[in-house]
Amino acid sequence: MTIQADLIITNGRVLTMDRNNPRAEAVALAGDRILAVGTVDQIAALAGADCRIIDAKGATVLPGLIESHLHLFMGGAELAHLQLLGVRGPEALGRAIRDYAATNPDCPVVMGQGCDYDIYGRALTRHDLDAILPDRPVLLLAADHHTGWANTAALEAAGILQGRTLTPGNEIVMGDDGLATGELREFEAKAPVMRLSGEHRITAGIATGAEPEPAPTADDLASDCIPMARGLAHCARHGLTSLVNMDGNIYTLRVLAALRDQGKLTARVRIPFHYRNHRTPADLEIASRMSAEFNDDWLSSGFVKFFMDGVVDSGTAVMINDYPDTPGWRGDPLHSPESFAAAATEADRRGLQIAVHAIGDGAVRRVIDGYAAARAVNGPRDARHRIEHIELIDRSDIPRMADLGIIASIQPCHVPGALDFPMQPTLDKIGKARWDDAYLCRSLHEAGVPLVFASDWPVADASPLRGIQAALDRPVFDGARDERIDLHDILAAYTIGGAYAEHTEDRKGMLRQGYLADVVILDADIETTPKDRIGSMRVQKTICGGQIVWDAEAEAA
Ligand SMILES: [Zn+2]
Repeated sequence: MTIQADLIITNGRVLTMDRNNPRAEAVALAGDRILAVGTVDQIAALAGADCRIIDAKGATVLPGLIESHLHLFMGGAELAHLQLLGVRGPEALGRAIRDYAATNPDCPVVMGQGCDYDIYGRALTRHDLDAILPDRPVLLLAADHHTGWANTAALEAAGILQGRTLTPGNEIVMGDDGLATGELREFEAKAPVMRLSGEHRITAGIATGAEPEPAPTADDLASDCIPMARGLAHCARHGLTSLVNMDGNIYTLRVLAALRDQGKLTARVRIPFHYRNHRTPADLEIASRMSAEFNDDWLSSGFVKFFMDGVVDSGTAVMINDYPDTPGWRGDPLHSPESFAAAATEADRRGLQIAVHAIGDGAVRRVIDGYAAARAVNGPRDARHRIEHIELIDRSDIPRMADLGIIASIQPCHVPGALDFPMQPTLDKIGKARWDDAYLCRSLHEAGVPLVFASDWPVADASPLRGIQAALDRPVFDGARDERIDLHDILAAYTIGGAYAEHTEDRKGMLRQGYLADVVILDADIETTPKDRIGSMRVQKTICGGQIVWDAEAEAA
């Protein structure tokens, strides 16, 4: 008996991302797999008795999109926070905070996200925030999430008004009066205030990478399913069927597993073991255990996340040269060359993939050195280690990335001026002399470095359509090369490239017979949509594992 389709998508402009069969009109799904890809007539012949037919009406049909770098749990939680993107100046900030505080009288910390580094035209202080809301703790996060600004009430309640010694790279900025100014640099500095927010279980995966303390109860887990489900729903509406999370612990996987048991897991999720610099290589046994316990097409681990540096705007990105505005300062790496190489070698030996946040060219170089050291000890293997962000790179390191097969995980929406992020202060912090080495994409692609694209949500908007527009239509910095790439290469970085980076290209990232039934239907033909309008396109339907997990029509009805 021939297998019949239970779901058919017809009349589409199907971009399969399969080189052997790049274009089609229709796709048939049976259960959780793709049954066939072909013409309208070929696919219609496969319809079973109760087959659901979806008319794509000439719109683009793609493999389910792969978001290769995000923070799902945090993103889900932050959908309920005060949103500050585009808010500027004391008056607007004051109004936003007071309104939010009034409508959220019970939240233990007034949390805002998307705060501009330049919101007052200078560094924000606790006194600025005290003037707005003196009697309740306030913590605002920069869009990049690396820097936070707290008021005095928050610093006092968290016990850090007098400062505290932290591990390198983290800093509670102190004022001339011997007290904290309110600026908190990097995750360890923000953690004491985050703990007050009641979201410490959600943020443990990024703040420490350890398991939440005290151990979560069944009620905690049930309540944490709410923001996680909110995050998943947000991703489904954006066509994302595979999510590579970039922070985590076993608890994050437990929450996702609980949602799976309730039939509410709407995307495939990978969660890393987050190796912070208090760890030793022996701790990678935890990563191996996570990877053994969670190892199917819905929930998996299999990789280790590191941070090598911070971000450009706060001067915590690690540079090869001095910051132009701070002679003598190049940033403080989060791992020494020896400790990173030792950890990378052990992770590689265990067969784990490695992904390292490295923004400055100095951090990027140190990560490449560590990967080279791992290969020298363990020998070559199909490791596909990754570097996240690469906002600045010394061009001599590009061929080294290609030679070692290192994947470049790029966030097109992070390019200053491309989407929501302003040009300044970032471009001045980098310095015009280095703009030609900043936010590379075409140069990496042409050198043969595999690319994956992502948003880093909630750092930037999760919409891959906005990411695609950013990659197509980003600014060319004065005196620098044009780093734009074409639409098909961009789509590859959200599909087959993402699957390659997960070692799942044998079943994901293409529309091909036998592959997982992950499909996205857009609301128009992306190839004929003007590039400055692609970001305003919408996802009509998202299908993951053969199930419709987002349906714009049903939502509108
Ligand atoms: Zn990230």
